[in-house]
Amino acid sequence: MAKILIPSALRAFTNGQSEAYINGATIGQVLGNFAEQFPQVRRHLYDDQGRLRNFVNVFLGDDDVRSLKKEATPVKDGDVISIVPAVAGGTPELSKEEISRYSRHLILPEVGMDGQKKLKAASVLIIGTGGLGSPLAMYLAAAGVGRLGLVDFDVVDASNLQRQVIHNTRAVGRPKLASAKEYILSINPNVQVDTYETRFTSENAFEIAAGYDIVIDGTDNFPTRYLVNDVCVLLGKPNVYGSIFRFDGQASVFWAKKGYARRGPCYRCLYPEPPPPGLVPSCAEGGVLGVLPGIIGCIQANEAIKIILGKGDLLIGRLLLFDALGMKFRELKLRRDPKCPVCGEQPTIHELIDYEQFCGVTVVEEDGKRVNSFDITAKQLAGKLAGEPIFLLDVREPEEYQICFIPGATLIPLKQLPERLTEIDGTREIVAYCRTGKRSAQAVELLRQAGYTSAKNLAGGIHAWADEVDPSMSKY
Ligand SMILES: [Zn+2]
Repeated sequence: MAKILIPSALRAFTNGQSEAYINGATIGQVLGNFAEQFPQVRRHLYDDQGRLRNFVNVFLGDDDVRSLKKEATPVKDGDVISIVPAVAGGTPELSKEEISRYSRHLILPEVGMDGQKKLKAASVLIIGTGGLGSPLAMYLAAAGVGRLGLVDFDVVDASNLQRQVIHNTRAVGRPKLASAKEYILSINPNVQVDTYETRFTSENAFEIAAGYDIVIDGTDNFPTRYLVNDVCVLLGKPNVYGSIFRFDGQASVFWAKKGYARRGPCYRCLYPEPPPPGLVPSCAEGGVLGVLPGIIGCIQANEAIKIILGKGDLLIGRLLLFDALGMKFRELKLRRDPKCPVCGEQPTIHELIDYEQFCGVTVVEEDGKRVNSFDITAKQLAGKLAGEPIFLLDVREPEEYQICFIPGATLIPLKQLPERLTEIDGTREIVAYCRTGKRSAQAVELLRQAGYTSAKNLAGGIHAWADEVDPSMSKY
């Protein structure tokens, strides 16, 4: 006898039973006997021709039976069979409005009515509604993905609008989630939009991600990237990856689910260790061409749709590199690392860890805000400058200094800092700043290593200074 785990969607037809013990030598026989015992279940499992419906996934232990011998897969005593329907309670039907809306999909043999219903039944979680999240959410909504989850806690800033096309000028100052949801519903009111106005953390990640078929990484920082990766590996979900910087983009599909036929590497197989904090500048520091996240985000949306449809060759085991200036795509082969700490043969990570610590970011709680322990806020700095002798170090480039500077600052661009350390007045407390706080974080790291252990970083950079202390200052 094998044990069948019955999904909640089918329990209405099994007298509420969540499991059943059924005889049978193959998957086909066990499911047949199961439908015999609970006749109402049959139409949910089989189509009119008696074929197992293609949106019903059947797993023997951890393995999708499609990667084994399908319905002919042998079953032993004590085996556990899980029925995982893509849809709660059967296939969603398309309304007349949806049929005309999706008509260009419906006439594609690779999508068709079946595919469009799969899209409607699917759920996709998008982490971040910024540069990548914008095209992702817009195209997935337009394509008819039934449920989109969005995680973000930021507000729309004027400097976002150059690439985060889901937000508009009127939305500046509004929460990104409210702005994104409004726009998604204006594209396609058939989409259910779930919003999570929170940071994606080790504490909430499982709970949020568990309810979705696919997770898409649209983040811009390393701690969240590793978190998204580990959650997906541990939950066996596909992680559609994209990243952008200046003119370069990357995309891949990480799907390290054990037993999954097309199992590939995970993000940790590619990058086992994060770079030290500050070494890789973010888009806020290094800049990014506005259309680049549009291109990479669309590639991610394309892969997500292919996963849902079960069509085409996915970017599993392949890293796509895009160079917008050279207008070149390249592709690298990625291999699963058998020693990978999370998806390898003997994994050492079985639960979520402290990703900020893992990435070397030291975070402390201050007035309910999470700040780096080496940070000082603009207001705190203004207070100190009024009373104490501070050595204020500007590590930006001369062109940036010409736009604006904090009075009293000494300009030493970050690149020149190692050779010009003698110009630092170590008898005073040192505060470094740049545009948004990333380059100066590197400077503080360097200063601390050089023995200036009291060096602090102006959090949010001269931007925060303009926002909180001197509104007359130009922002760039
Ligand atoms: Zn891995």
